[in-house]
Amino acid sequence: MVRREFFKMAAAAGLTGAAQAGAQTSPAEPPVIERANPNQPGKGKVFALITPHLDDGPIFAGGTIAKLLNEGYTGYFIRVSNDEKDSYNLTLGETVLANEQDAAHFVEVAGLKKRYDLHYRNHGLDDVSRMEIRVRLIFLFRLLKVDTVLSYDPWGHYEENPDHYVTAQAVEAACWMSADHLDFPEQFDAGLKVHAVSEKYYFARGPQMVNRVVDIGPTLKQKLAYIRSCRTMMTNMVRSTNDSLTAQGMRIPAFSGTQEAANDAFIEAAFLERDKRIGSKYGLEYAEEFHYIGPDHSLDGYIKAHAERI
Ligand SMILES: [Zn+2]
Repeated sequence: MVRREFFKMAAAAGLTGAAQAGAQTSPAEPPVIERANPNQPGKGKVFALITPHLDDGPIFAGGTIAKLLNEGYTGYFIRVSNDEKDSYNLTLGETVLANEQDAAHFVEVAGLKKRYDLHYRNHGLDDVSRMEIRVRLIFLFRLLKVDTVLSYDPWGHYEENPDHYVTAQAVEAACWMSADHLDFPEQFDAGLKVHAVSEKYYFARGPQMVNRVVDIGPTLKQKLAYIRSCRTMMTNMVRSTNDSLTAQGMRIPAFSGTQEAANDAFIEAAFLERDKRIGSKYGLEYAEEFHYIGPDHSLDGYIKAHAERI
């Protein structure tokens, strides 16, 4: 998340009076509504949240991450950048450390199994070899046997942050190439095996094709805790918003208390309001939208009709 991103959020929440950022496109069919499943369908399955920045997942998919964990999934967090540009008044070095500590806190609060930091420079991913990022992801997908990924939509429109779309493109390519025996076969000598990622939850800041809506009412408290754990970034958003308001001769009292209280007020105004608006489109209290790509069942019918026991 960068300055311009939270100004968009603030605008979307009506805080600045500016026009709201682009709405979602209309897919051909109504999206599938995914609700809490008490039968632990995620047991034995593995997901990886892969984002350039710490706060991307908590903000756009926090309720869904909590839902998958509640349903038995084992979760990993792969943070692609070092988040060196996202603080209010720290130096670059201090910012790297503060966000690294916050990332550790997020992993602990969420109950994720482990975090991998790829540590590429923040705001500079378009200058990194996409092949290099892809190979590192393929290695991790094979090592961790990742079934499901959550990441930015590589086909989301009007994304201005290169960190977001470079990460998304690397994730999408790595998902299927990790199943190919001719891609990086030297990894097999280290004990890895081909492994396909079969499910993808793609989120976007701008317009995207939405075909999956997750009811996050039951996991809203967990989502709040995840966003709260991104303390350095939230503090940056609040203080920068306050600077902007001050320049316009305004203030919001709720953003002026203790840092914790101000951060909570901002999270509610910017992010929970967004989730509430999304939910209201589908008759839900709070929701998150995705472009979801599931396992390929195109041959199931033929296999059922023609397969023999051997
Ligand atoms: Zn971001």
